[in-house]
Amino acid sequence: MTKLKALNGFKDIVPGEVELWQHVENTARDIFARFSFSEIRMPILEKTELFARSIGEATDIVEKEMYTFVDKQITMRPEATASLLRAYIQHGLHVQKPVQRLFTIGPMFRHERPQKGRLRQFHQMDVEVLGASSPRVDAELMAMGALLLETLGIHVSLEMNSLGCPDCRPGFRKVLLDFIKERHGVLCDDCKRRSTTNPLRVLDCKNPVCREQVEEAPSIQDHLCDGCSEHFTAVQEGLNQLGVPYSLNKFMVRGLDYYSRTTFEFITTDLGAQAAVGAGGRYDGLVEQLGGSRNVPGIGFALGMERLILLLQQQEELSTPNVIDLFVVGLGEAASEFVFSLVHVLRKTGMQAAMDHEGRSLKSQMKQANKAGARFALIIGENELAEGMAVLRNMESQEQEEIGIGSNLEDISTLLVEKI
Ligand code: ATP
Ligand code: MG
Repeated sequence: MTKLKALNGFKDIVPGEVELWQHVENTARDIFARFSFSEIRMPILEKTELFARSIGEATDIVEKEMYTFVDKQITMRPEATASLLRAYIQHGLHVQKPVQRLFTIGPMFRHERPQKGRLRQFHQMDVEVLGASSPRVDAELMAMGALLLETLGIHVSLEMNSLGCPDCRPGFRKVLLDFIKERHGVLCDDCKRRSTTNPLRVLDCKNPVCREQVEEAPSIQDHLCDGCSEHFTAVQEGLNQLGVPYSLNKFMVRGLDYYSRTTFEFITTDLGAQAAVGAGGRYDGLVEQLGGSRNVPGIGFALGMERLILLLQQQEELSTPNVIDLFVVGLGEAASEFVFSLVHVLRKTGMQAAMDHEGRSLKSQMKQANKAGARFALIIGENELAEGMAVLRNMESQEQEEIGIGSNLEDISTLLVEKI
């Protein structure tokens, strides 16, 4: 029989690796809580229209990366912001609290070419603040991202730009188009197409020829309206005040249409082409665009978990052995029946206890105890059981002692909790 394998770009996260995922997730939950974020969970399938209307028709994601059931017009979410805002609007969350700070963690789906740090099912930790327009919130959010990455021991640089707003971006778009027109002939095919649909995207093309061409391109930072310019300056002041290092990058435009004003990325040099471990920005018009109330500004970012895990794995061989408190060895039918009940009582008290169910030898059960990383083993044979005795072995120091266990399971449990 041929073995069935997971789809290309889809990955299992198996024991040995999953501990690192749990560590990343727990650290994130801790930090998000410190910044007053509440969790929200949304379904994986949404109407295709949701993404077309938010991410934008002329984006890589909507043009070519979505997993869509065409006959049903539903799509597996490629990112979290659109779904989160849909839920926010649907449940009237703005009524509960004028400012909502929400996070979600889960799988996203994009049909891309799989490679290191780029999968088709990948996971994001996504945070969004809705209902706050202050530039302080932008700085606070970036500071939170930086703190999380620092706490995980991941070194990144923070790059920031402003994309202006519907008042000033069209002006910049014109200036940029004039610049691009002069160089149109030498640009890559994608950029030739983009220059009509989405000229800003030419600025972040990865093609070396295009890169060289846009080196001298005008900077949007010089074309911001007064409001956007003040906001941009205030965000930088906020970051300075909080001691968060950053640099400005006039080429960062991000691949989603909904951004306004602040955009940012956390960049690593250790993952080749997959340089962004996280990215986000402000999207002040998006809630209204999705049918929500007017004037609900928003800002958020998402961290790519696969990339965080790769960086952690690259840093050192982190092995987090699965440690249990106690392995209870029962030898013979009667003892193993007794151990079956005892282990359950121990587990009810909160202990991580394990046993063998296959009637294996003492030697083989001790091996299992070792593999499970048990701190202690309790050995009960037929004779010991009859005498109400057992041997407690400290697996690390290898010291053993005989203990009286009687026959009352609760008493044994109390005694063991004291001893180990
Ligand atoms: P990239 O430029 O690497 O394609 P992106 O701009 O498409 O990233 P976003 O939509 O901003 O990415 O998603 C936020 C984060 O999610 C990224 O910074 C990255 O860490 C992660 N991410 C995005 N796409 C993938 C993927 N296919 N596989 C793994 N992680 C991903
Ligand atoms: Mg992408």
